[in-house]
Amino acid sequence: MAPVMSEGEAPHLALLPSAGMGHLTPFLRLAAMLASGGAAITFICPTPVVSAAEAAQIDDLVSSSPSFRRLEFPLPPFDVSTAASKDPFFLQFESIRRAASLLAPILSSVSPPPSALILDVTLTSAVVPVARAISLPVYIMFTSSVWMLSLCLSFPRTASRDGAIEVPGLAETLPSIALPQALRDPKNLFTIQFCENGKAMADADGIIVNTWEALEPATLAALNAGKVVPGLPPVIPVGPLHPSEKSGPSALPWLDAQPDSSVIYVSFGSRTALPPDQIRELAAGLENSGCGFLWVLKTKKVDKEEGEDGERAMNEFLGEDFLERMEGRGKVVKGWVNQQAVLRHPAVGGFLSHCGWNSVTEAAVSGVRVLAWPRHGDQRINAMVVEKSGLGEWPKEWSWDGDDETVRGEEISRRIGAFMVGSAAAAAKVKEQANGAASDGGSSHRHLEHLVAKFKIRRH
Ligand code: UDP
Repeated sequence: MAPVMSEGEAPHLALLPSAGMGHLTPFLRLAAMLASGGAAITFICPTPVVSAAEAAQIDDLVSSSPSFRRLEFPLPPFDVSTAASKDPFFLQFESIRRAASLLAPILSSVSPPPSALILDVTLTSAVVPVARAISLPVYIMFTSSVWMLSLCLSFPRTASRDGAIEVPGLAETLPSIALPQALRDPKNLFTIQFCENGKAMADADGIIVNTWEALEPATLAALNAGKVVPGLPPVIPVGPLHPSEKSGPSALPWLDAQPDSSVIYVSFGSRTALPPDQIRELAAGLENSGCGFLWVLKTKKVDKEEGEDGERAMNEFLGEDFLERMEGRGKVVKGWVNQQAVLRHPAVGGFLSHCGWNSVTEAAVSGVRVLAWPRHGDQRINAMVVEKSGLGEWPKEWSWDGDDETVRGEEISRRIGAFMVGSAAAAAKVKEQANGAASDGGSSHRHLEHLVAKFKIRRH
């Protein structure tokens, strides 16, 4: 995205991320973009972080330019037995939320005083009142689709009818199977936080989203017309948020040896490990599809736990000779790849994705078609957006976390085979719209300029 500010007028912004790469990534991208236009950014970093990847990404960005500063926000010890979840990321959200009152002195100590605080959605209900108490304008960074935002704003005021969920103010309904698993349980920590944050978003000055007008036009229009929540602050689509060009090494050299559009990239994001049986079926499916593949294999949820046993885990899950049989055609990576670079590589013709929102927007930017295999949370909602936009397909009958069924290798290979020879025309159009929105004069660029102008008014 082109810089949006002129020199000498830079505002200073405080950014408060929460946990998990899916939440951190859009923050870092927004920060890099604002800084490239001259803004000073202070990151307020809750510590300790959950995963090693998060710590590394923050360090990289902060050390890349004097525009960034980092302020530690040490989290007091937190008794996890008092929270209704075992998920390390949700527990971290809770830990930060419970420590919110400690933020007031930290925010007040930031010098020069920030024009605004931009905070991760998971912290909304705990942190908005703190910002309000010190008269600091506060913006929410919503890290998923605006369909998911609509659900968050209205849950549990939704209605369920004939296998579909109706969200007040939206004409389009959601298939019931797409409701995030946790929301079926009102006592689940995710549900509690989701409802509280949804309500509190109305008290913010704006909601920033990593989407663009052409991707979810009807949903955005309904939100900004106050149809979902009357009096909602502006929902500001500034996406797709691009990584800075300096962000990481190029794609794997292995891809250079593959024919154009021949490889399906397989990744379930930064925090999703398939069950062992499903990993084996996926391996069989990839093998029998006859397609080239690049598979980022995760066997544990948090990367810190993976240790140096990658090779051993690979053999244990895939069988000793799988990699030998696949030599030349398929590659399995245990660890972090530069996904943006992979998706930009001409050899990559499809993306079997869990549909984390960042992955969806990254696929859109590169015009890579998505075969959606959502696993939990907002991912089926995002898969619906993928399908509707033309970016890809979603086999709705494929199971996700909590279902007993395992999707069989034969089904996976059949589906991948058909997918890889499908037309890329609709995805190319999504790519054009995505890049158009982010370039000079595009809708997202204009929204961001307008937002920055507001920050400047506050500063002077
Ligand atoms: N990612 C990456 N390399 C990996 C795995 C993930 O660069 O090996 C990045 C990916 O490009 C995306 C983010 O991590 O920007 C994952 O966010 P997403 O919302 O797609 O899914 P989540 O990890 O939150 O489920």
